[in-house]
Formats: sequence, C-alpha cells, structure tokens
Amino acid sequence: MNNPVLSLKRCPRRPRVLDGHPWVFAGEVETLLPKSVNGLAVDLVDPRRRPLGTGIYNSRSKLVWRRFARDNGVPWDDSTVAGRIEAAVARRDPSVRYGRLVWSEADDLPGLVVDRYDDVLVVQALTLAVDRLLPAIVDCLQSLPDLAEIVRRNDTPVRRQEGLDLNVSTVSGADVPSRWFSIEGIEFRLDLTGGQKTGFYLDQREQHPAVGFLAKGRRVLDAFCHQGGFALHCAKSGAASVLAIDSSAEAVENARANAARNGLTITAEAANVFDFFTAHREERGLFDLIILDPPPFARSRSALDGALRGYKELNLRALRLLSPGGILATYTCSQPVDRALFRSVLADAAHDARRSVTILGEPRQPADHPVRLDFPESEYLRGYWLQAD
Ligand code: SAH
Repeated sequence: MNNPVLSLKRCPRRPRVLDGHPWVFAGEVETLLPKSVNGLAVDLVDPRRRPLGTGIYNSRSKLVWRRFARDNGVPWDDSTVAGRIEAAVARRDPSVRYGRLVWSEADDLPGLVVDRYDDVLVVQALTLAVDRLLPAIVDCLQSLPDLAEIVRRNDTPVRRQEGLDLNVSTVSGADVPSRWFSIEGIEFRLDLTGGQKTGFYLDQREQHPAVGFLAKGRRVLDAFCHQGGFALHCAKSGAASVLAIDSSAEAVENARANAARNGLTITAEAANVFDFFTAHREERGLFDLIILDPPPFARSRSALDGALRGYKELNLRALRLLSPGGILATYTCSQPVDRALFRSVLADAAHDARRSVTILGEPRQPADHPVRLDFPESEYLRGYWLQAD
C-alpha cells in the first residue's frame, strides 16, 4: 500500500528538512492531509516532487511530520517498528542494566522512549503513531532477556498535543510499588509509575559517581538534589560534609531515605536554591564543591534571554561561596543553551565574582541519549567542571 504524500511549499525561509532535519511544521506544507491520516506514515516531497523520506503524520500537532526513514514508501507497521527497536537496542551496551534503550528521533522512532531499570522497562508513547502501535512495541520489547515487567508511562502532558489521553498501566496488570534499585553502586527507592521523568535522572547517572570522585575531603553542596544522586556519591567517596537541597519536600524525603538505606550521612533540606544563596551570600568559602543541576530554564528559543540571566545569577552566587581551589560542577539541560552560550555565561559569572576559573572537564549526556548531527534538539545536557582560584 502506498503512503499518502505531503508536499512542502515554497517558503521564504528554507525548511530545515531540506538540510536533513527530521521535522516539518504545519506552516511549511502546501496543504494539510485529512484527519484520517493522523498517526499514519506519510511520504514527504519537496515543491518539485523530489522525495524527502517517510515520517509519521499528525495534523493536530504544529509538528505535523516527523521522519523515521530516509526513503519514501516505508510502511509504519509492526515489522518496521520492531526493526528500529532491535537496531536501537543493538547500538547500546548490553551490560548496562539502567539506561535508555530507545530515544525517539535519535533512534528513528519519533515519540517512543524506552528506559530500562534492571528487570523493568518503562515505555512512553508520546505521538499518536507510536500509541497506535503500542501493542506491537510491547510484544517486541517482551522478547528482551531478564524482564519482569513493562510499565506504560503514558502520563506526559505532551500527549494531549497529539490528541491522546493520559494514563499509566502495566503489562502484567499488577501494581508496581516503589522499590529499591541499585544504580552505580547506590540503592535508590524509585517510583517507576509516578516519579519525575521515568523514575530517575538516568541522563545524569554517569555524572553522579564521576563528581563523587572529586568530593573526597570536601564540604559539598548539592543544589537541586532531587533523590540525592550527586550527594550520595559524594558522601560515599568521603566528603567532609554534604548538604543537599531541593525545593520539593518529597524529593528531600527521598534523598534522606536513600541516605539511610545506604548508611551514608548527608543533610537534606527543603529550600529554594536562590533563597539559600541569598541567605548565605556573605559566607565566602563555605563549600569546597558545589553541584548545580537545575531544571531546564528555557525549553524554547523565546525563553533564552531569561534563562541565560538565571544561569548567570546561579553560577555567580555559587562561585562566591566556593573556597580557594573549590570546584563547581554546573549543568544545563535547556536545549537552546548550547555549549558556547553556557560557557560565555559562566565566564561572565566568574568575572562578576572576581574569580579566575579553570575548566577541569566538559561533561555531556551519556551515549544512550545519542546526539544526532541532523537533529540538534537531541543535544540538551551540557556541563562544566570548573575550579576557582
Ligand atoms: N540532580 C538531580 C536532578 C535534579 S532535577 C539528579 O541528578 O538526580 C531538578 C530538581 O530541582 C528537581 O528535583 C526540582 O524539585 C528542583 N528544583 C526546581 N527549582 C528549584 C529551586 N528554585 N530551588 C531548589 N530546587 C529546585
């Protein structure tokens, strides 16, 4: 069966899809296709009818077309999706028990996210096309070894933009209560049916022990600690003291419970990081290692200016509290804040703090969150390890 055809229109602004990007917006096409095509495969052609690949279509979203194949005429069916899942799994290190197995456009499966937590998979269907094939996707995932359960975490609000409802269910039908999982040598109590993201910040899991190695003998502040990933690894590595703060009382409770379970000593407090820095602004030299891992300040370019001001303020205040030789491990997960922008914000902050600062490392997102050259949106997590004089 042939796919319906969607035609790009001649635009004053060159559509990015012509240069290999996998997205087409409603304003870039000649005419939208009938609603009956939503959730199906559609062939894209340029204004001269030259083929540009096959994508999934949904006219309810501004993002009407998302490529999953570079050829035209590829079906969106059980066997295509199974092949893509097998390829995504084969690209990843089979020894990793905690990590992302499938990541949307970066794995040519727009809208499908699959995370592994030991013997449990958490699946998110974020597009109508993926939702339609979810039974086949689950069947395919069930063939992976050592699995006890698959959770369908379909409670992400972006589903509404696709015309989908929100729900959470398991393949077995049984409840999945919170339980202990051992990630990078530390036990965390995770709620895979209700926690933020799919239950854990898997994209920072390599950073937790890596920053922990820097912590021996240091007085540590883990700002934006959530479940305490950084704080607990610092305590385990022999930090002199660890203070973990988060504005969410629930996150702080979890961090405390995780510390107790692992026999580690940290102080966890519910506080707004900005207020904390204001309250302690005169206490220079209070910490020897500060971790800043805030939520995204800008999800889109329009929010960029405000976000950059936020990052500058935060990093400036942290640098002021660092002892001589102190280390700042600072991150941004705002996709539009690229490495060059983030670095210039940090340079501004260092200048205002009157500190000379050296770059010790430039951490990035782990390999199971792959960055695609043709899809800059896949790169979103950037960090710097800095040492202040
Ligand atoms: N570092 C964590 C992830 C942090 S996610 C890890 O590696 O697992 C960001 C956290 O910042 C969330 O837990 C959120 O509750 C918290 N947060 C958001 N705004 C905050 C603020 N102004 N002050 C303190 N915490 C905040």
